[in-house]
Amino acid sequence: MVIVIKQLIILKIGGSVFACKESKVPRVDLDVLRRIAREIAVAYKRGVKLILVHGAGSYGHPIVKRTKIDKGIKNKKQLVAFAETQRLQNDLNSIVTKELIDLGVPAIPCQASASAIMSDGKIKKMFIEVEKGLVELGLVPTLYGVPAYDEKRGCSILSGDDIVPFLAKYLNAKKIIHGTDVDGVFTSDPKINPDAKLIEKITPKNFKSIEKGIRGSMKIDVTGGMRRKIEELLKLSEIGIESLIVNARKKDRIKKALLGEKVIGTTICKS
Ligand code: ADP
Repeated sequence: MVIVIKQLIILKIGGSVFACKESKVPRVDLDVLRRIAREIAVAYKRGVKLILVHGAGSYGHPIVKRTKIDKGIKNKKQLVAFAETQRLQNDLNSIVTKELIDLGVPAIPCQASASAIMSDGKIKKMFIEVEKGLVELGLVPTLYGVPAYDEKRGCSILSGDDIVPFLAKYLNAKKIIHGTDVDGVFTSDPKINPDAKLIEKITPKNFKSIEKGIRGSMKIDVTGGMRRKIEELLKLSEIGIESLIVNARKKDRIKKALLGEKVIGTTICKS
């Protein structure tokens, strides 16, 4: 069942932006987080209705990679890792929501793994009527990548990049904004190739000609990376949900994107 919330924006802030993805120990870049929180606050106070989803960065990828809980539960030690991974994500979510609450944004923590069942790494069910009610009340539900119960493997990762399309589809969002650490999607990874060119628009039609330049996960990333994001967003474009990928590490990009102003980035749309 699709529930329509008028003008809803789903905003994803990647772990690469503020949660120090390359760090082996949990670390947050507070300056970046605070600046993004201020930009979100401006948009919220101007009436933008949004759900926030954030990535895990150094709070998630290293422990999951080390304990392999994303591949399933095979021994008792992994149960402790499962619980500890969830606790770490709650810590990060507390840090994120506190910054927003301090600015008067009612960012309410929502643990997706408390209302989702995974099956072989995919969402089988997720109860999202709560998020719908909270947004309608004027809150900003704040979800985050988590380890989740999986009926086949015991555990798999319910990443921010899985949560975003699910919410967008079933709440019929108007738009998805992905804040990441590069200016958008390029002809090849801009961190490796300085000559890579920004692609302003991706549609199901031009995707074939550019897909070879888009990499999947980095070594540290236990989710799908840029490649999977785009594949999922393209599916949503087919049902009329437009997405915008912008650089959240650069000042005002998130604010402009939320307010619908012109901003550097990549739009993913039907045509
Ligand atoms: P996040 O943590 O923000 O969700 P990801 O690490 O999943 O981000 O994806 C962003 C990364 O994707 C960028 O830092 C970049 O290195 C990589 N990437 C690979 N190919 C491309 C491409 N063609 N254009 C842009 N980024 C790319």
